[in-house]
Amino acid sequence: MLTSQMIKEAARRAGADACGIAPISRMDGAPDDMNPKFLFPEAKSMIGFIFRIPRGVQRGIEEGTQFFQYPSMAYGGINEIFAPAVLYTVGKLIEDEGYEAFVYRNTGARGSVSDMDGSPGSSLSPEEQIEINENAKMSTAHHRSVQFTRPTRSDNVAPDLQFHFRLAAVACGLGEIGYSKMLLTPQFGPLQRLAFIFTDAELEYDEMYNGEPLCKKCMRCVRECPGKCIPDIKSGKTIKVNIAGKECEWADIDMWKCYAFYTHAGRYQNPFVPKEVWDKNENGALDLMEGKAEASEVEIMKVYGALQKYFPSWVGYNMAKCGGCIRGCVSRLEMKDGCLAGRFEAPLRTKKPWKLER
Ligand code: SF4
Ligand code: SF4
Repeated sequence: MLTSQMIKEAARRAGADACGIAPISRMDGAPDDMNPKFLFPEAKSMIGFIFRIPRGVQRGIEEGTQFFQYPSMAYGGINEIFAPAVLYTVGKLIEDEGYEAFVYRNTGARGSVSDMDGSPGSSLSPEEQIEINENAKMSTAHHRSVQFTRPTRSDNVAPDLQFHFRLAAVACGLGEIGYSKMLLTPQFGPLQRLAFIFTDAELEYDEMYNGEPLCKKCMRCVRECPGKCIPDIKSGKTIKVNIAGKECEWADIDMWKCYAFYTHAGRYQNPFVPKEVWDKNENGALDLMEGKAEASEVEIMKVYGALQKYFPSWVGYNMAKCGGCIRGCVSRLEMKDGCLAGRFEAPLRTKKPWKLER
């Protein structure tokens, strides 16, 4: 008989760092076009897997000496290689026991609604940017790989359905959403990526996390964001979601602005773009980065057009460079009252964060 314990042991053996299991009904409050029950209507259980991001892939950004390892290993490596291999192995175990395993790896940018702002239809998301810049005949911010999608039956939502990974992880008892909107787990703080399996097997379920709050509301993520994309808690600008009775609240982040800054980091945090490029700001392409324009898809396209060549992508993921909120958060959670206290012999941060003089 298939048990939760068998699944968790198989997940650990295959390389997952943690695994939590929930009844799929915990996602009942999700809007239809982001509700995983439409993926597999007979599914009873949702299995969430955590894959840690090695703290060391942030070291190069912390030191200002190496920026490629984070996007290639933590985004590309986990999403494309490590997590799918675990899903495949655990999925086979479930199907060997006579139940179906709907495996769901991270598929950013494939949804029928934007994974940036939840808006329906044709809008831009990070992983598509590369495709647009390099291959699209008409370069437009309003592009999605599935922009002509439509429901296959009158009672269906349009494919490809994407759901909220971080909230699903909360439902599986794996952690909480921090003020920065990152998933925080007791084992790894903000350093992980996720994958899921949906199955018709009924299993024993984990409770949702109910320990000491993982987020310290310290506002380091706010202060260390190079684009000031995260409003301070005093602004009252937050988003609240209830997952099966558990209140989740996070900052109402300017996601489009973050989209520009997490990849291009800004004048003082991007060592790959010469000072003259910022100073010249040709055709106002960098107005958004220089605080002279509000974030919009049009402004972001201008930023990408001007800056992408200075640090090309070869891993299918945008070249995240800022690392601001994640490193700030790790540094805070490594303090003695944080969930990462004592995890490493030495802290991530050993000196004042660097800032380019220009
Ligand atoms: S940096 Fe502080 S406020 Fe922000 S998510 Fe981490 S613990 Fe919460
Ligand atoms: S990823 Fe970077 S730009 Fe986005 S909110 Fe975090 S620190 Fe700011």
